Amino acid sequence: DGERGTGHSRRKLLGRLAGGLAHEIKNPLSTMAINLTLLEEEFQPAPGGDGVQSPKDKRSLKRVHTLQREISRLEGILDDFLHYARGGEINRAPGDLVALIREVLEFAAPELEAENVRLHASLPNALPLAMLDSGAFRQVLMNLLVNARQAMPGGGELIVELRRSGARAELAITDSGVGMTEDQLEHCFDLYFSTKRGGTGLGLATVRRIIEMHDGEIGVQSEAGRGTRFLIWLPLLQEIPITKGAQAPPSAESEP
Ligand code: ADP
Ligand code: MG
Repeated sequence: DGERGTGHSRRKLLGRLAGGLAHEIKNPLSTMAINLTLLEEEFQPAPGGDGVQSPKDKRSLKRVHTLQREISRLEGILDDFLHYARGGEINRAPGDLVALIREVLEFAAPELEAENVRLHASLPNALPLAMLDSGAFRQVLMNLLVNARQAMPGGGELIVELRRSGARAELAITDSGVGMTEDQLEHCFDLYFSTKRGGTGLGLATVRRIIEMHDGEIGVQSEAGRGTRFLIWLPLLQEIPITKGAQAPPSAESEP
């Protein structure tokens, strides 16, 4: 009916406005991030020098790192938000899951280390490609890693395992954190559900949507006080057999 149509287009307009705003905030944020990287270099001990750093530089470096963390937190929130504002469109192409996961773990490692979270990763050397929106999938991983870190305020163990399971890839992210109650477990994927002060409740809802748009599945197991495991299954493309050695298959005539 007309009433619903109006509500729908108003929501769409609001989504576009908010999306535009989120986008406008992202640009200056990335300028800030670039300048912080330059600043970080200035406070770091000079390469080839004696490695001695003044206490003042040490303090400044810590502050730079705090700012970098907060900027990437804001970027994460804006990305989750933008995913909804854009109506959650994704753009997939054949991609290497192993490389993508490795890259995200490298990015997240310093922050995990700073929070006394020990990271154990078990990734296969190679896997068939998957149809991925690499930006969206990076967002999935970041959301799960940030949640895991937040679930382990005093530090703990984080295990990231990727393996092949038939025609699918299986990714398990396990933390030794606070875990969830049955009620939390039931609602954790709901939009705006959050038990955190200042939490948005956008993270897992976005994660689930992105996984579903990849024709994948996501599951969760958790026990209060013990930890949580998220499991993700993604379809893999069929392997293209690679001919070993020769660039082109030898023709019958060239055979001795
Ligand atoms: P937010 O992180 O902003 O709270 P999320 O959608 O990312 O929103 O998560 C929703 C809720 O699910 C969290 O507030 C928390 O209660 C629960 N949760 C998510 N991941 C974990 C985890 N690894 N361990 C324990 N609880 C979790
Ligand atoms: Mg979250």
